[in-house]
Amino acid sequence: MVPTHGTSSDPLDLPIQFVKGIGPKRFAALEKIGISTLRDLLFYVPRRYLDRTSIVKIADLRRHATNESSAPVALSADDEINIRRDYTVVGDVRSFRVVGTGRGARFVLVLGDATGTMQCVWFGGVQFWKRAFRIGEILAVSGRPALYAGVLQIVHPDIDRIAARDDDAGGLKREGGPAEKEERDWAALLHSGGLVPLYPSGQELQRVGLESAGFRRVIHKAIERYARDIADELPQALLQQRLLCGLSDAIRAVHFPQRREDLNEGLQRLKYDELFLFQLKLALRRAMQEKHTVGIAFDTRSALARKLVDRLPFALTGAQRKVIREIAADMALPHPMNRLLQGDVGSGKTVVALLAMLIAVDNGCQAAFLAPTEILAEQHFRTLAVLADGLGLNMQLLVGGSRSKRRRQLRADLGSGALQIVVGTHALLESDVTFSKLGLVVIDEQHRFGVLQRAAIREKGESPDVLVMTATPIPRTLSLTLYGDLDVSIINEMPKDRKPIRTTISDETSAESVHTFVRDQIQQGRQAYFVYPLIEESEALELKAATLHYEHLQNAVFPEFTVGLLHGRMASEEKDAVMQAFKAGTLQILVATTVIEVGIDVPNATVMVIENAERFGLSQLHQLRGRVGRGADQSYCILVTRRWIAQRARCGGAQDDLSLDQQRAAEQRLAAMAKTTDGFAIAEMDLQLRGPGDYFGTRQSGVPEFRVADILLDTALLDAARADAFAMVAHDPSLSSPDHVRLARYVRAHFEAEVKLMDAG
Ligand code: ADP
Ligand code: MG
Repeated sequence: MVPTHGTSSDPLDLPIQFVKGIGPKRFAALEKIGISTLRDLLFYVPRRYLDRTSIVKIADLRRHATNESSAPVALSADDEINIRRDYTVVGDVRSFRVVGTGRGARFVLVLGDATGTMQCVWFGGVQFWKRAFRIGEILAVSGRPALYAGVLQIVHPDIDRIAARDDDAGGLKREGGPAEKEERDWAALLHSGGLVPLYPSGQELQRVGLESAGFRRVIHKAIERYARDIADELPQALLQQRLLCGLSDAIRAVHFPQRREDLNEGLQRLKYDELFLFQLKLALRRAMQEKHTVGIAFDTRSALARKLVDRLPFALTGAQRKVIREIAADMALPHPMNRLLQGDVGSGKTVVALLAMLIAVDNGCQAAFLAPTEILAEQHFRTLAVLADGLGLNMQLLVGGSRSKRRRQLRADLGSGALQIVVGTHALLESDVTFSKLGLVVIDEQHRFGVLQRAAIREKGESPDVLVMTATPIPRTLSLTLYGDLDVSIINEMPKDRKPIRTTISDETSAESVHTFVRDQIQQGRQAYFVYPLIEESEALELKAATLHYEHLQNAVFPEFTVGLLHGRMASEEKDAVMQAFKAGTLQILVATTVIEVGIDVPNATVMVIENAERFGLSQLHQLRGRVGRGADQSYCILVTRRWIAQRARCGGAQDDLSLDQQRAAEQRLAAMAKTTDGFAIAEMDLQLRGPGDYFGTRQSGVPEFRVADILLDTALLDAARADAFAMVAHDPSLSSPDHVRLARYVRAHFEAEVKLMDAG
C-alpha cells in the first residue's frame, strides 16, 4: 500500500514521512529544508565527494605542512563534480578549548587519528564553535596545513561531520539505529570506496542524526525500496538523443558512485531533469499565452517617436537604437509582447521606454509606467516629463499620496482615454482603476513585482504589450530561468561621455580625509551623497540614527554647505521637496537611507559615500554607486567600512555582530566593487556569493531553486534543456503523444495551477 500524493501515483511524489528511517523528528527537520517528497530526498545530492586518495594520515600531513609556502592547490578537471583536492584528514575529536580572551580569543580543537594529532583553529566565533562539537565525534577536516612553533594546524578548515558517537552527550535517541554500526560503515567506506559522498547538513539535521552518515543510510534505504518503481518521466527518444542515463540509475550513481564516470553521468541526468522540467513549464506557459491571446498589432511608424528622437539633446547609443528596433518589431506583431529590457544603471532605459510608449499613444492607446516605489515613480515621471516636454502629451503621475480629488480626476481621465500616459506604483493595480484602452505596460525593476502582479496589470487592458525593465544586470543563465518566458533586449553600452567611477575602500579612522575630499569636490561645484544602511531594529531608532548623522555632517563637518536629509519615513511631499532641492543644487549634500537606491538622477552629483558599506549587498552597492557618474565629470564612490574589513584583519571578529563568514563575504563584496564597474560582472559575482535563491530576496520573485543544477555553471545543459523543451511543446503542445504520457502526468501533478495543458487538437 503506497500512499499517494495529489493526483499523482508516481512514487517520487511519496510524502517523506512514509519513507523508512524517517520518524517525526527527522520529518520535521527535513521539511524545514524543503524536503517533503521522495523526489526531494533523492535529489538532495551530496554537497561534495571526498576523493579517498586525497585523505591523508596526520603523520603525512606534517610533511605537506612544511611545504606550505607553495602555490595554492590547482583545481583539477574534476571541479565540475566538485571533488576536493586539498588535504583532508579523518579523525575523532580529542579535545577542544578557547585560548586567549577578548578580541584575541581563538578556538582550538584537537583531532586525532592512528598516526597522531593536530589542531584546528578558528579565530572569532568562539561562542559558536564551543557548542559545535562533541568529544569522540568523527570529522573530515579539509584545508591547508601549516606548522606554528612546531604544532601542526589547519586554520579555518572545512568541516564535514562524518559520524557521531553512540555515547553522544546529548543522549538523543537516534532514529536510524545504533551509531556504532554507522561508524564501521564509514571506516569501510573510507578505506575501500573511491568517492565518499558528503551531504550538506546543518545543526538541525545533525541533531536528528542526519549528518553525512545518517543521510547516506536513509537514502540507501529509500533507493533499495523505491528505485525500481521510479518511472522515467522523460521520453526515451530524448534520453537517447542527449545520451542521458535513466532516472533511477542516475539517482543510484549520484548517491553511491562506483566510478567517477558514473557519478558524472548521473549528475548530468539529474541536472537535465530539473532544467528540462522547468523549461517545459515556461514553454507551456508561453504557448498558452501565444495561442490563446490576440494582442495589438501596433503600427510602429510613430510621428511622436520621430519627433522625440529629433529633439533629444544627445544621440542615442547604438545599443539603445538596437533595442528600440527589437521592441518595435515585437509591438508590430499581433500577439502580446513580453519583453525584458535589461541595461546597467545609467545606460538610458527611460528614453527607450518612452519611445515605446509613444508608439502606443500614436496608435490611439494608453501606456502605463509602473515603478516599485513612490519616490521612483515620481522621479521617473519627472524624467519622462522633461524628455516629453513639447510633444503635447497628456501624461500624469498617480501614486497613493495623490490628493483624493486629484485621484478621482485622474481616474476619470484614465477611464475616458483623455490621459495618454500614466506613471505610478501598484496603486495602478487597484481594482477601481480602469483604462479606456491600455496598449502598453512598462514595468520598472520587475523583480519587486510578483508574477501575479504582472498578471493583474495585464488584465487592465485586453492583452497589452508588456515591457519589463531591470537595472540589475542579470547573468544570462539566470534570466533564462527567471524570465524564461520573456524575450530579452539588452543595452550593453553606456552613453559615450561617461567616465568609469573610481571606487575606494576606506575605514572609519580616515573619516577626515573623506570629508576633505568631499569638501574639495563641492568647492568645485559638485554635489555628494552620504548613504547609511538601515541597521536599527525599529524604524524610530533608525530615523534617529539617520538624523544624528545628518546633524553631525551639517553642524560639525560641513557648516559651510547646505545638507539635506532623505529617509523612508518622510511624507512623499517632503521627500519630493528635498529631492527637488538637491536636483536644483540648493542642497550640496544629501544624507539618505537606502530610499535613493534606484533611479535617482542628478548628473552633477559626483561623490557617493557609503557608510557601513559591509551592510549592503553587492547589487545594492552597485545600484547606489550608479547614482553618481551620470554626467560628464569624473565621479567617485567611497566605501567606508570597519577596520577589520578594510585591513582584512583575521582576528577581532569575536565581538562582532557579524559572523566570520559574513565578514568574509563582506570583504569579497567590497573588493568586487573596487575592482570593476561592470554591472554584469558584479551580478555574476553577487549570484555566486549569495546563491540564486537569495539573489532576489523573495521567494515569490520566481527564481526556481534547483537542487542539483547550478544555473551559473551548467549553461550548456540549460541551453540544451531549453531547446528540447521548447521544441517538444512546439510539436506537441498538449503533451498528448503516447511518448509524453508520463510528462503530462508530471505537469498535471506539479504545475497544474500555473499551466493548464491545452486540449488536444
Ligand atoms: P537608466 O534608467 O538606464 O538607469 P536613464 O534612462 O535614467 O538610465 O539615463 C541616465 C541618464 O543618461 C539620463 O540623464 C538620460 O537623460 C541620459 N541619457 C540617456 N541616453 C543617453 C545617451 N544616448 N547619451 C547621453 N545621455 C543619455
Ligand atoms: Mg504586439
